Amino acid sequence: MMGSVALGGAAGKASQAEASSPPPMVDLQTARKTTSICPYCAVGCGLLVYTDRASGEIIHIEGDPEHPINQGTLCAKGSGLYQMAVNPARMTKVLHRAPHSGKWEEKSWDWALERIAELVQKTRDNTFETTNAQGQRVNRTTAMAHLGSAALDNEECWLLQAMMRSLGLVNIEHQARI
Ligand code: SF4
Repeated sequence: MMGSVALGGAAGKASQAEASSPPPMVDLQTARKTTSICPYCAVGCGLLVYTDRASGEIIHIEGDPEHPINQGTLCAKGSGLYQMAVNPARMTKVLHRAPHSGKWEEKSWDWALERIAELVQKTRDNTFETTNAQGQRVNRTTAMAHLGSAALDNEECWLLQAMMRSLGLVNIEHQARI
């Protein structure tokens, strides 16, 4: 689809007055058009990404009608890609709410990774089972679960599986099956 398109996806915290205003129009004829692939699942649908030539910002994303897999169509997740790429409400910093606290505090990524590692080790150490009720060796913890993402590639999935299995996790799932 070429021409102009109304952008209504990245409303963020718009006021009621703003929300009722017609969304701005953008001219796709003058935009730079780039092909890409949807990152959400292994179907691999083709995309057309339109960027403003002056600012370099993404102004529209749609299905690529010339792509052999999706032929211009996108599912609900793919159709929402623009809101993922351009969204003022998207979180870009780590926020932490301590137990029993009523407020969120901004933290660094280093702090967050240390904290996650600390809690993973503590939970594993406190819940690890070497045998089950029948005395069979299991070497597992059922106190943690891992949820994968469709945006991961094969190599990342392999690494995550190896890491989670080595920790003893048995509850390992994929977001697309929820
Ligand atoms: S998430 Fe939807 S649009 Fe994206 S590749 Fe999968 S089926 Fe296609």
